[in-house]
Order: sequence, then structure tokens, then C-alpha cells
Amino acid sequence: MRVALVNPCWDFGQSIYFGCRSPHLPLELGYAKALLEANGHAVLMLDGHLCETPNLDLAEAVAAFAPDMTVVTTAPTYLFWRCAQPELRVPRALLAAIGSRGGRTVAVGPHGSVTPETTLRKLGVDVVVRGECEEIVLRLAEATDLQTVPSIAFAHGAEIRVTGGPHASEFTNLPALRWPDDWVARHRHHHHRFDRTPDRPGAEIEASRGCPYHCSFCAKIDFRDKYRKRDLQPLLAEIDGLIEQGVAYVYFIDEIFLPNKPLLDALVVRPIEFGIQTRIDLWKPEMLDLLGAAGCVSIEAGVESLTVEGRATLDKQCRMTTDDLADRLIHARRSVPFVQANLIETAMDDPALVTAWREQLRQHGVWANDPVPLYPYPSSPDYRKLWGMPDARAWERAHEHYLAQFEAFSDIQEERPVPLPDLEIFCCSAC
Ligand code: SF4
Repeated sequence: MRVALVNPCWDFGQSIYFGCRSPHLPLELGYAKALLEANGHAVLMLDGHLCETPNLDLAEAVAAFAPDMTVVTTAPTYLFWRCAQPELRVPRALLAAIGSRGGRTVAVGPHGSVTPETTLRKLGVDVVVRGECEEIVLRLAEATDLQTVPSIAFAHGAEIRVTGGPHASEFTNLPALRWPDDWVARHRHHHHRFDRTPDRPGAEIEASRGCPYHCSFCAKIDFRDKYRKRDLQPLLAEIDGLIEQGVAYVYFIDEIFLPNKPLLDALVVRPIEFGIQTRIDLWKPEMLDLLGAAGCVSIEAGVESLTVEGRATLDKQCRMTTDDLADRLIHARRSVPFVQANLIETAMDDPALVTAWREQLRQHGVWANDPVPLYPYPSSPDYRKLWGMPDARAWERAHEHYLAQFEAFSDIQEERPVPLPDLEIFCCSAC
């Protein structure tokens, strides 16, 4: 089968999107390509974001390839599935431009994972994949009867059929990815790196997937939930391939980069630096020292709240005191040039306490962000506590709640966001 895999050319204007707006590697499409090609399928992979290709040009390239199936992702990369933009206007515009020239159309991403019927309707695609998508895309390429493919939604006459809950990939055995040289060369962004200006290419990579915790705000119920560690051999082969292509920095997109001595020992001897997100309470001082020696230059650690009660409300299951957390962050900063403590806006945290704590850490070179408000993503426990299981209006409900609750928005948003129906007006008129 001929399969086109497409990351759209994203536009986040007036979106609440919290993720980084620079291009990153579309890992979900990379894995799907590797699995498809290993099974004899012909693949065209396009990235409108990284290659700055307008969606109309992407559509023409897809049409020229004449695929039997076209897969479009609804979030820029796996890295941002937990904080995806709620609106589907960009993939909808791309799919409209492709029209009937893409063969069977398939949407993958966080939206269809939690609200498959709504996503199918908003995008007008033939199939929506629920959950982690690489293995299901391969199943779709090989199936003659959609009903036999797990974890998808598709229209059957007037009804929408859903063949099961979200899929969790095996993951551990995913092969080493190899990206086109010109993609790597133009990937100048070093995600979440602040110690110096990048002068050589960066990349994103995955050493583990999922997380054993269940923080109330974390949108991972429907994908990337169960913790799995990738086999070391393909992971190191992928890193070595990136080094050969000139990459000087990789960002591990792992939800929670846990202490992994064999991986860190292997990185010590490789000419590459890296960034991670983790929980600082899970690292012993000597492992933090090894992390720095291995080349880590950026740590983003979720502290979230400065009170035991606040962390308990967020279901952090953190056993450390706030002082212990501060000590561990300051220890990390001895060998890692950028260490950030993430804070969330909670009613439990006195603003004066937050200001004093941020200043205390700043004096030791650790940066703590101005607390950001929560967005109750439909795949988070918070959403389900507020409204139960997500329904057809889940994204609209979360959006209305967010816009109504907060007067002042996070300082990472450049424009005031607008209601979801306004952002998706093109989707709605197409339904
Ligand atoms: S520890 Fe991090 S990844 Fe895990 S559930 Fe909490 S916020 Fe999500």
C-alpha cells in the first residue's frame, strides 16, 4: 500500500496552545513510517511545520504521490499530546485541501483518542485512531475490513463505529528512527534549552513512554499512560545516527525521564547534550551528578505546588517536603546549567510564599516559573472530576471553563485566546 504521513503547517494564532511553537520532529509519524516500510509499504512523510511548507503545497505533494491512505496528525508531535491545541482547524484545512486525492483519510492524535466521534465529524476523515498510533496505522495499512482493526472509529453508513478503547503500543522494541538529512539540518531549535544559543542541529527522541503517576491535571489517560522503557540498543543506535547527522542536542520527550544508569553511562562517552522533564523527588544526589556528567543541560521538574496540601490536591504522591525539593533542585543545578521548577496556579499557595520561594531558588540559579493556570484537558482526571466522561462537547466545555475562570493568562501566550467555536468555524461549517 502507498501511505502518506503528514504533519501540517501549524498556526496557533489566538489559540490557548501551551506547547512550544517551534518545529519538532513528528515522532509518531517517524515510528509509523519505520513500521510501514519494514512491512513492505511505500511511504511519503511530509512535515509542513519543520519544512515550512504551506498546507496547500502539502496537499499537492500528497496528491502527486497518489496514496491509498493518508494519515494526518492532530497535534504537532508526541511531545505535545498532553497539552495539545484544542482546535482542529489546521488539520481540517489540510484535509480539505487534499480532498479525495489522499485515498482513505486517517486522523491520529490526542483529540481522536478521547473524543473519536467528535474528531471524525469535525475533520471529515474516514478513520480516527484512538491512543498511540504507530502500530494501528500499520494495522490499517494491512486490513481489508476496518471492523477487524482495534482502537479506531469510522463511519459505517449513518452510524459511527468505535472498535475499542485507546491503544497502548508495545513501545519497548520500536526501531531506531532515521530522519532525512535536510530535516535534521534545518532543525536548529533546541527544545527547552536556555544555557546558550544553539549553533548545531537539535532533535527529539524517546527513551521511555508513559508515567506511573496520575496527577490530577495530567492529560494522559487515553495515550502514553502506562510506563514503558525503550530497549537500549535501538535507542543508542538512534542517538548515534543523530550524532552522525551533526546533532549536538536531543530533548528526551519522555513524560518522566527516570534515573536510568545504563543509558546515562552510555551518554557520558557520547558527544551530545540533552534536556529532560522529570520529577526531582525521584532522583538521588549521586544520580543527579551522573545526569550532569552525561551531558544534561536542561531539567524541567514538576513541583506544581509549594504546600503538602496543594500537592496532595493535585494527586502528586510526592513524599518530600518543599524544603527537600528545593535542596534537590539546587543540587541538580551544580552540574546542570539550567534547572526549572514548574509551578501551577492553585488556591492552596499563598502568592507571597510563591514569590519568596521563587526568589530563594533564583539565588541558587534555579528558575521557577510564575504559576500557570490549569486547562482541564478531556484526557485528564481533573476533567472527569468536574464533568464525568468526555462527551461530544468535551473540548468546548474545557475551553469555556478555562476562558471564564482566568482573567490573566499565562505569560507564554502572545495573543488573547478566543472561544473554540470561533477557532473551528471552518470545521463546523464542514460538518
Ligand atoms: S508525574 Fe508528570 S507525567 Fe506523571 S502524571 Fe504527574 S504530571 Fe503527568
